[in-house]
Amino acid sequence: FLKGKTALITGSTSGIGLAYARSLAAEGANIMLNGFGDPSAIEAERSALETISSGGRALYSSADMTLPSAITALVQHCHAELGGPDILVANAGINHIAPVTSFPVEKWDQIIAINLTSPFLLMQACIPFMKQKNWGRVICTASAHSMVASPYKSAYVAAKHGLVGLVKTVALEMARDGITVNAISPGYVWTPLVENQIPDTMEVRGMTREQVVDELLVARHPTRELVKPEQVAALALFLCREEARQVTGSNYSMDGGWTAG
Ligand code: NAD
Repeated sequence: FLKGKTALITGSTSGIGLAYARSLAAEGANIMLNGFGDPSAIEAERSALETISSGGRALYSSADMTLPSAITALVQHCHAELGGPDILVANAGINHIAPVTSFPVEKWDQIIAINLTSPFLLMQACIPFMKQKNWGRVICTASAHSMVASPYKSAYVAAKHGLVGLVKTVALEMARDGITVNAISPGYVWTPLVENQIPDTMEVRGMTREQVVDELLVARHPTRELVKPEQVAALALFLCREEARQVTGSNYSMDGGWTAG
């Protein structure tokens, strides 16, 4: 149902972003991939997306989401090569674990830039193209940490709370333009982002790896199961449907019940 539409997905060389790319490509969308990683692995994913989409195209850009000029150039490049963007998935994100008193200010700035400022700049650059067609979908990957906090994640929690404020505001501004703006808030999803937090969390909390996984990750979810990237992608796909036209300004939880408690 997305044939002829183009989706720009930031942070799509890994984890949840890659799952979004696969599910949108499977519906025929052209895909602009973005993120970092091993060039040959990225090229393999890019060409696999073209196969999945049967007729859709997929391109890759290494644009760095900390650089405003690179963000604008990415959107222009996407428009010139693939059209659109009709669907913007602002997904790139990083985390850093440290107590607030010793939280490095460079890490704070980097997390705010990637997790909060890049969605703002992407929306600024993409929405004019969506307005021309009177159709658009903006989806931001927020987090359960857009609703609740955990210690030692001050920048991440602040950025994700802020992101939902941005989503609600832009949803209201775009309400009459056929453009919906929503957030998806997963609990813990087993991706490199979660894996990479484990060593610092072990250190700052004095826990073993098993304790971190059982007591901090799995225990957060009343279901006692982590979320799968494909499940998050299925929700994003729903938000792209015509049936989701009236869903805007929402922040959807997918966290095994975490934020219900
Ligand atoms: P991941 O580490 O697997 O993927 C992150 C992606 O962002 C990668 O493609 C990486 O190359 C890219 N990236 C990092 N820095 C970048 C930069 N400066 N410019 C461009 N791309 C950059 O992580 P993930 O778990 O798939 O996370 C994706 C999103 O989901 C993030 O916004 C994250 O906060 C959010 N999220 C993740 C979880 C989880 O448990 N994994 C839970 C809730 C929300």
